[in-house]
Amino acid sequence: MTSGTLPGPPRRLVFLGPPAAGKGTQAAELARELGLAHLSTGDLLRAAVAEGSDLGRAADDHMRAGRLVPDDLVLRILGERLARPDATSGFILDGFPRTLAQAEALGRITDLDAVVSFDVDPKLLVERMAGRRSCPKCGAVYHLTSNPPREAGRCDRDGTGLIQRPDDRAEALEVRLRAYHDQTAPLREYYLRRGLLRSLDASGSPTEVAARLRRLLAEPSGRPPDGRRPSKP
Ligand code: AMP
Repeated sequence: MTSGTLPGPPRRLVFLGPPAAGKGTQAAELARELGLAHLSTGDLLRAAVAEGSDLGRAADDHMRAGRLVPDDLVLRILGERLARPDATSGFILDGFPRTLAQAEALGRITDLDAVVSFDVDPKLLVERMAGRRSCPKCGAVYHLTSNPPREAGRCDRDGTGLIQRPDDRAEALEVRLRAYHDQTAPLREYYLRRGLLRSLDASGSPTEVAARLRRLLAEPSGRPPDGRRPSKP
């Protein structure tokens, strides 16, 4: 793929941030708006679990407990998805990479234009996760108070009964936050050093965050016009 000198907003994006920071909601909307592929490893893994594939069976226990799924499984599922034609004109990676090994593997597959770090007060995350409900059919995400469906407990799009994801229950929350802190948060520094990180204040309503995100992406990248990145230390 070519380097990031295309006019307009960046088209090869990573959304980095703790669980329930709003990455999925923002990624879905922005991807629709810009015609990008929205690649959520969480969604891909949940689909594999629902299908009962070998990979899904291997991932299931880790996910229920809130642990990260082993890198080799995630890389397999992501690599297949990234190779599909709709990802060639641009993508938003939502929830990937989550470990240094994943970031390094991604760097071997593709260049990136920007990595958006969703920054939220950790106290808000617990509240967001506890109130989150999702549609098992189409993946739409709601929140009991901040983004309720029109009819309580039913998906606006297809009327399916909403569920609480097993890993949004209290037992798994702490494990997920710890996994983020220990394994994923260090990637902020990794991408900062590569001149790709842009920090987003992800507090407030989805509409407020969406407006901030668009302003952030409209800013020049700070990269030299020939698209070269600052040298890696
Ligand atoms: P998410 O929907 O992004 O919150 O992901 C739900 C769960 O899927 C996580 O808690 C992990 O168990 C697993 N998962 C998703 N993406 C990754 C990843 N990049 N690496 C490891 N595990 C992942």
